[in-house]
Amino acid sequence: MIIVEKAAAKVNLGLDTPFRHADGQPEWNMVMTSIDLADYVEVRSTGTRQIVVSSNSGFLPNDQRNLAFQAASLLQRTFKINHGAHIKIQKKIPVAAGLGGGSSDAAAVLRALNRLWDIQLPIAELAKLSLKVDSDVPYCVYSKTAHVTGLGEQVDVLEPALKPVWIVLAKPNVSVSTPSILRQINYDGLAHPDINGVLDAIATGDHHQLLASMGNALEPISVHRYPEIQQIKERMQGYGAETAVMSGTGPTVFSVFNKESRAQRVFNSIRGFCPEAYLVRSL
Ligand code: ATP
Repeated sequence: MIIVEKAAAKVNLGLDTPFRHADGQPEWNMVMTSIDLADYVEVRSTGTRQIVVSSNSGFLPNDQRNLAFQAASLLQRTFKINHGAHIKIQKKIPVAAGLGGGSSDAAAVLRALNRLWDIQLPIAELAKLSLKVDSDVPYCVYSKTAHVTGLGEQVDVLEPALKPVWIVLAKPNVSVSTPSILRQINYDGLAHPDINGVLDAIATGDHHQLLASMGNALEPISVHRYPEIQQIKERMQGYGAETAVMSGTGPTVFSVFNKESRAQRVFNSIRGFCPEAYLVRSL
């Protein structure tokens, strides 16, 4: 049997880190939502214990460095599975963009193998286990609008969910190394975005409050290293976006709209300036 899982990209409507743990890992306070920009991950169980990953992307390692490989290997070791897996990734999400593509592929593999290998782990358990792959994977196991805390393993799916919105994304032509940005966080000088404001806005469906509260504490660090991010933000705002925020550790910048026509206008303008632009819906 073959399972094809959709692996959706995410954006951080709000991203904050209140402190660093003794082992150096950041504590997170984030609001994330998934968008209809997605990879497709085809998974097949095989007779030997070998894990084989392939993809249509020239930018991705196909060995144990691939997060999809790591996800399969984690499940195989944890549950002493005597099967292997063939994983084919059709990559649509830009790599190292702040859109969680690798984490989402890993989560898709976990969901698929949980069924193919008949492990039947409840989704909450699968999400907890998946933290061993990467901090964004527990969120991606759900891929629903959520408040994410701890090291990424505490995922509270929001109810009511975010009202459907249009999102314009623009990725400057640079790749950001997440670990290098995380190492540079200086907690003394960090400006904290209004995460409670984002949560309230989603709960009440207040679009303007959402736009006013969105923010990313790591943005100044990435902007300092890549001034292109600030330029794209200013362009987007100049073209009519009320707010433009960086996702994850960047470099992708996004803006949120409740009217398609306005999103379309900003998208048409920004893609003349930045070739890697997308107009998508929240899921
Ligand atoms: P995040 O927002 O979770 O930090 P990101 O969107 O910035 O992630 P990814 O696209 O997940 O970045 O890629 C980050 C790194 O992970 C890259 O260096 C890439 O080579 C590696 N990687 C491993 N497996 C994958 C995968 N399946 N898809 C994308 N990147 C992968």
